[in-house]
Amino acid sequence: MVGVRIDLHTHSAVSDGTDSPADLVRVASDAGLDVIALTDHDTTEGWEAAASALPPGLTLVPGAELSCEARSAEGYGLSVHILAYLFDPAAPALVAEQRRLRQERRRRLRVMAERMAADGLPIDPDEVLSGLGPDAPAGRPHLAQALIRAGVVRTVDEAFARYLGGGRGYLVPRADTPVDTAIAMIEEAGGVTVLAHPFATSRGPTVSEDAIAALAERGLTGVEVDHPDHDAATRRRLRALADDLGLVRTGASDYHGTNKVIAIGQETTEPDQFEALLAKAAGTPVVAA
Ligand code: AMP
Ligand code: ZN
Ligand code: FE
Ligand code: FE
Repeated sequence: MVGVRIDLHTHSAVSDGTDSPADLVRVASDAGLDVIALTDHDTTEGWEAAASALPPGLTLVPGAELSCEARSAEGYGLSVHILAYLFDPAAPALVAEQRRLRQERRRRLRVMAERMAADGLPIDPDEVLSGLGPDAPAGRPHLAQALIRAGVVRTVDEAFARYLGGGRGYLVPRADTPVDTAIAMIEEAGGVTVLAHPFATSRGPTVSEDAIAALAERGLTGVEVDHPDHDAATRRRLRALADDLGLVRTGASDYHGTNKVIAIGQETTEPDQFEALLAKAAGTPVVAA
């Protein structure tokens, strides 16, 4: 697998990316990738379309990014994202929890939109939600797009900086899945779990090294080391931590199409680490027919 290029974290328009799943696999292939994971937020809806559109030579790792909550040492809730791969998408407990979470995402985005409208911003909460499918995982990038359409901001980044971050009182919390529960559900469904961008401090408070050690005890398989939101020092620290704890190290772009400025394949996973991840999963990747 020497020279193989692997990107294990991408989003399609099924969640908050901008490429359809079929376009995403073509973009991945055009970018020279050999392996791509589709990890939409809290849904597996895009798996089939991505698999049917797979160009020859590209391998698809079906996955999802699960919105979870961890407890800090002081007892408050910390948002953490778990990348889950190669699990059974029909596992009943997982299906039920992800459905609940997608409803919770809608409720939360509506409250955010209502707060903006109440403040006089030209945002119509009904319009924001009706533009999304009834079971789509609504997220802040969708509200960013509504702000762009309304002429309030020019870019998604500007929307996050001015309206969607913590500062303005528009950010509403969500009842995410307890992280231990998510890890257990994915293990039960035959999959493996990787802690996404653990030290991305620009997104808010992050988990401690002790908390990651506790997750490793609970069955976490890996940590995302190379991510656009991690600087060089952070990557060194995470790499050492992963090696200490026996966790697989991954690297990935967290590509969102034009909703972010990151290119697909900008960060990649080392082939031996990918092999180590595969070895722990019951499911297998999809190759073009
Ligand atoms: P939510 O899941 O609704 O809390 O929205 C978070 C999503 O927005 C994550 O997928 C992030 O990758 C994305 N996001 C966070 N900050 C930015 C930003 N500055 N520009 C674009 N997307 C962002
Ligand atoms: Zn996203
Ligand atoms: Fe994430
Ligand atoms: Fe992501």
